[in-house]
Amino acid sequence: MVNCFRDDVDSIPNIGNDWRNEETLTALGIVFRNKCYICEEKKASPELFEVDHFITQIDDDSLKYKWSNLYLCCSDCNGSRKKKTPIGGYLDPCDPNDDVETEIIYNIFPYDYNQPVFTPANPIPSEKVKNTIEQLKKCHYGSKKTKMKFESFRETIARQAKKLVNLMFERKIAIDNKDSVEIDRKEIQIREMLTENAPFTMLMRSVAKRYGFYTNHTT
Ligand SMILES: [Zn+2]
Repeated sequence: MVNCFRDDVDSIPNIGNDWRNEETLTALGIVFRNKCYICEEKKASPELFEVDHFITQIDDDSLKYKWSNLYLCCSDCNGSRKKKTPIGGYLDPCDPNDDVETEIIYNIFPYDYNQPVFTPANPIPSEKVKNTIEQLKKCHYGSKKTKMKFESFRETIARQAKKLVNLMFERKIAIDNKDSVEIDRKEIQIREMLTENAPFTMLMRSVAKRYGFYTNHTT
């Protein structure tokens, strides 16, 4: 998960009584960068996502057409969400008081173990952090019933991670060869994979960190 900003759009879209209207979907695409707010899968356009009610309709039906309660979400993550929010709620990527990028530590080991790992940054995590990690695990691990599907999803993430590792390796060769043009080229490609706009940002940053590339000042 990455932090998202509702004021990335100039004005609140006209939702009316259709949270999937074009204006709303376009605005959600901008705020969430055409990514699922939970698993960070990226798609070509917001129409390819579902619209999730962060506070579920069972929790509060009056918020179903409220802009601040609409989140861009892939169908798998949306389908895996509980109908009723657990006590403590979830970390909210749009709430400036929640920092989804630092309160959870994201990890993936692309070559030996491709299952993402999510751990709380604080040794005594809040219910909110624990619930969010539970949700992330559901979205990334699937259930017995959806095992095959989720394996292919993890392969997609692992492929992205391996591409990043290769780029860092090629950068290292360019450094050894003192080829400054090639170093720049590789660094631009690596940074592109680590921005909030890229798919699976937090997992890719964890890979880059392990290889000593990424710091908070990299992007
Ligand atoms: Zn998702």
